[in-house]
Amino acid sequence: MSDKKNDNQSGEEVGESCKSIGPRCPICDAKGTDIKAVTPQHTLKAVHRREIDPNGQYHFCENPDCNVVYFDCIGGSIFTTDKLINRVTIKDEHPDTPLCYCFKVLKKDALKELATSGSTDVIAMIKEGMKKHGCQCEKLNPRGSCCLKDIEGWLASKGIDPKNQSKPASGCGSSSGENRQGGCGC
Ligand SMILES: [Zn+2]
Repeated sequence: MSDKKNDNQSGEEVGESCKSIGPRCPICDAKGTDIKAVTPQHTLKAVHRREIDPNGQYHFCENPDCNVVYFDCIGGSIFTTDKLINRVTIKDEHPDTPLCYCFKVLKKDALKELATSGSTDVIAMIKEGMKKHGCQCEKLNPRGSCCLKDIEGWLASKGIDPKNQSKPASGCGSSSGENRQGGCGC
């Protein structure tokens, strides 16, 4: 759609309330995490990408039960899960939902491993991949940042202690100096 709203007047109020109480999802009122426009510009299906303002400030709805993925306070736009290329880790229990978008690890891969061995090395595996190939969380992961926290949360929901993985799970930015190639920024 090309009817780009001029939000000089009406948008300001919304933007102000967003500033005072922090970004809240317009549908579920959950907290929104700031993301850069570059994330929806890559994670949305092509047809919806033109609705993204490159200078806009977008937020990711953190409520797993809400199907809003992105919203912005000023323009009032909302992007729901069906508008994205991929399923969203925290919002979708389908086995085909990715845990890691950079290395295409799906929930069903980890579930299979869990079913056969009772544990999964998914985090160690992803960290290994990050080291070797770097990652592109900002453009591939719908939440625009590292997937490891969400994976830890998901593992915990399955009764798996993520700390019991074969390698420590401390986030991909742990070796800040050596993470040049990654561009992970998390
Ligand atoms: Zn929401």
